[in-house]
Amino acid sequence: MAAYPRQPSVHLTEDHEAFRESVRAFVEREIRPHADEWERAGIFPRDLYRQAAKAGLLGLRYDPMWGGSGLDYFATVVLCEELAKCDTLGTAVGLMAQAEFALSVLADEASDSLKATWLEPAIQGELIGAIGVSEPGAGSDVAGLSTRARRDGDDYIISGQKTFITNGTRADFITLAVRTGEPGPRGISLVVFPTATPGFEVGRKLDKLGARASDTGELFFDSCRIPATNVVGVEGSGMRYILSHFAGERLVIAALAVGVMEHLIEMALDYGNERNVFGTPLLGFQTWQHRLAEMATRLEATRQLTYQAADLLNRGDHTGEIAVSMAKSHAADSVKFVAAEVLQLHGGFGQMEESPVPRYYRDVAGFSIGAGTSEIMREIVARALIQTRAAGTKERK
Ligand SMILES: Cc1cc2nc3c(=O)[nH]c(=O)nc-3n(C[C@H](O)[C@H](O)[C@H](O)COP(=O)(O)OP(=O)(O)OC[C@H]3O[C@@H](n4cnc5c(N)ncnc54)[C@H](O)[C@@H]3O)c2cc1C
Repeated sequence: MAAYPRQPSVHLTEDHEAFRESVRAFVEREIRPHADEWERAGIFPRDLYRQAAKAGLLGLRYDPMWGGSGLDYFATVVLCEELAKCDTLGTAVGLMAQAEFALSVLADEASDSLKATWLEPAIQGELIGAIGVSEPGAGSDVAGLSTRARRDGDDYIISGQKTFITNGTRADFITLAVRTGEPGPRGISLVVFPTATPGFEVGRKLDKLGARASDTGELFFDSCRIPATNVVGVEGSGMRYILSHFAGERLVIAALAVGVMEHLIEMALDYGNERNVFGTPLLGFQTWQHRLAEMATRLEATRQLTYQAADLLNRGDHTGEIAVSMAKSHAADSVKFVAAEVLQLHGGFGQMEESPVPRYYRDVAGFSIGAGTSEIMREIVARALIQTRAAGTKERK
């Protein structure tokens, strides 16, 4: 396949590029040959977590003391750009739901005892983790969640329901958002919930539009007793932890979108040169040349926003949250545009399941939903702009 002519980035070192090559080799060896089979099965094998761990992919930014690699956010970006090209985005999402969504808050906030019991074996691929925030009555409105954790001596008793949980049907533990106190954001805590706890039940494995090789489940908690020491960090700080760690999840989605766009444009270059209509390759027509240019422009704009966000997150700059919200909403719009254009370029073949193109078209639909919708991303950006202006006006008075 024609390689996308990616320009060198000032942000990426030789080490990042060497890491890219190792992820690419992992994708070619361990994932892509099985993509069709896993998509049809609606799940990828549990052993892939172990393989990914051996390749050092599940703990990139985490402390080497717990088996992590101590790398930066650009390593996460490079991982996602290359994983996205595996032709089974559900598999990429399932791996990242573990490596980023379930683990990042544990790496930053959990006690050493929780890290030893859950984080370290998860980085080693021995345990599967999930992040459990969304509920039937609380998706975008995280502060409205109602799964209750009542204190009983040295334990919490947990009752409630979660939905849309990636890795939920086979997770060994869930980084779970629960209500331990008052209504609203200040009454929320995060706990590590072992799924072997009596009273826990997996409901339906949900049948999704895309990302079909990842499992997404409904979860039920009926008076589940767990030790109070399973609380992550400080009780009542859950909302703060969730909001600050959403940045990593959103960066993952933006970087996956960059990788998908590169991969789809590579397919467009190949098909557009090979397929002749009216005696001319498709890319001989100006309309397709211009559409190709537009796709590449949207890809590069998304890449710049994503790299800017990663740079700010690396530096611990609080505006990283705003930059990553811009990157994610722009990425979701851009990748849907590119997927639709490449589908159209492929004509009837683009409608056939033997091509990965229609699969990508379906898979990217969820990029404007998962890890915070595009409407919520724009809320965050607009609120920051309005607050900055208000603060500036006050200072000038
Ligand atoms: C495939 C998949 C995997 C997922 N994996 C996980 C997971 O692992 N863990 C987890 O906790 N959750 C997960 N989710 C849930 C996901 O985070 C939520 O679906 C998402 O946050 C939106 O919540 P909702 O579905 O309840 O939509 P709602 O919040 O009901 O929103 C419906 C629509 O209203 C819009 N809207 C909401 N609020 C506003 C507003 N203030 N202004 C304007 N428009 C607004 C939304 O943008 C959306 O378009 C997953 C979802 C999917 C689809």
